[in-house]
Amino acid sequence: MADRQTRTPALQARTPAQELLDALGPVERFHDTEEVGAFGLPSGRVTEDMLAGGDETTAATRFGPLQKIHVFWFAGMSCDGCSVAVTGATSPSVESMLLGAHPGLPRVVLHHPVLNMESGPHYVRAAEQAMAGTLNAPYAVVLEGSISDELAAYATGGYWSGQGEEPWGPDGEMRPVTASEWIARLAPNAAAMIAIGTCATWGGIPSAEGNPTGAMSLMDWLGKDYRSTFGVPVVNVPGCPPIGDNFTETVAAILYFLQGFGPLPEFDELGRPAWLFGETVHRHCVRGAYYEEGTFAQEFGDPECLVEVGCWGPVVNCNITSRGMINHVGGCMNAGGPCIGCTMPGFPDKFTPFYKRPPGSFASTTVSRMVGSVIRPLRKFSNNHLNREVRWDRQGATPSGFGREKAEPSALAEINHKFYDMLRRSGDRGKAKADVWGKRDEAPSGGSPNPRI
Ligand code: SF4
Ligand code: SF4
Repeated sequence: MADRQTRTPALQARTPAQELLDALGPVERFHDTEEVGAFGLPSGRVTEDMLAGGDETTAATRFGPLQKIHVFWFAGMSCDGCSVAVTGATSPSVESMLLGAHPGLPRVVLHHPVLNMESGPHYVRAAEQAMAGTLNAPYAVVLEGSISDELAAYATGGYWSGQGEEPWGPDGEMRPVTASEWIARLAPNAAAMIAIGTCATWGGIPSAEGNPTGAMSLMDWLGKDYRSTFGVPVVNVPGCPPIGDNFTETVAAILYFLQGFGPLPEFDELGRPAWLFGETVHRHCVRGAYYEEGTFAQEFGDPECLVEVGCWGPVVNCNITSRGMINHVGGCMNAGGPCIGCTMPGFPDKFTPFYKRPPGSFASTTVSRMVGSVIRPLRKFSNNHLNREVRWDRQGATPSGFGREKAEPSALAEINHKFYDMLRRSGDRGKAKADVWGKRDEAPSGGSPNPRI
């Protein structure tokens, strides 16, 4: 174990996934289908049949070469939060993809340990067929949670994270199969390998300092040379949990590519969808203007910018401030939470302690405070003026009963506003000749009083 952890990447001839398979050896048999029998529901059918809406001859004609694609969902070192997040997706929703509601997309046959009706050997049957090459369609693999170093666990007689049993022990004995092993065996023939959530994309919380599992990301597990059968490297949709729509939208874009209906979507150098992770949290934050004006929350519940109570948004790639969490609603800053960098490869160790001011923010907040101390009063001055009708300016009074205690603008303020209005109108040549703002002296001779008609 010590050797494995101290080996430098340059000397790593084999990926961690290959090392595990070297240690375990090939598999020679699967569950005996005769012995296992038919699926136990009264219908005797499996989820795939129930969602198909008929057999292949009666099902609606689909465009493109792929009628359907199997998606195997594995959970490694996971809290299942990514599954919960994805079930909340709306653009597109999981249900619509399962039912084949999107023109041009193959129907998705999902094998999910929480959502499927099958269990035990019936549940792993399709994964066995994928390994044996007898599945009737291509497949993609989704990993939620990080990969654990199962060789370290085997050394103590246990395992970290398993999914089902197979007769792969000595003399065909049943033994638990870890998520790490399933991934290592299925990856070479997968059409796409997709990591969902920060644990699967970068290791996440299970790979934090002090964790004994040797947790790592899907990319770390498969190595930088990994390519799917369609030539696609590992795709990463980070977040803790990720925004459900980020995941389903990325999957839909990849499926269109596999179908031949579009190019491979643009991914950044870390395999993130570039159109989703190209901006920082701060650039679209609803509290961004508070930062610009130099006003900051001092405790949770304050409406201003959260940087001084621990927000890392200015240096974090995440689109929750423009997309919201579910159906364009919610999201960290909208709900009062500072950004702790949960989408980032450096999370969590490079962001701790949470809810403490990032030291690097001192310089920019000091500048914001200085600029804001000048800008804020000027904006307030204009804002007061713009909150008045022109009529009230002429009459010198505001007729609102609510505002009767409010002082009318002073003569000095009015002179300032008049000067500002002259400045504002000086560049508008079309209206410069009007006696009264917005009204012309006379209609053009022989024409309509409205010169635009
Ligand atoms: S709350 Fe965070 S992301 Fe929003 S403006 Fe402040 S520092 Fe930027
Ligand atoms: S704003 Fe920060 S904490 Fe919130 S989801 Fe995005 S990266 Fe995570």
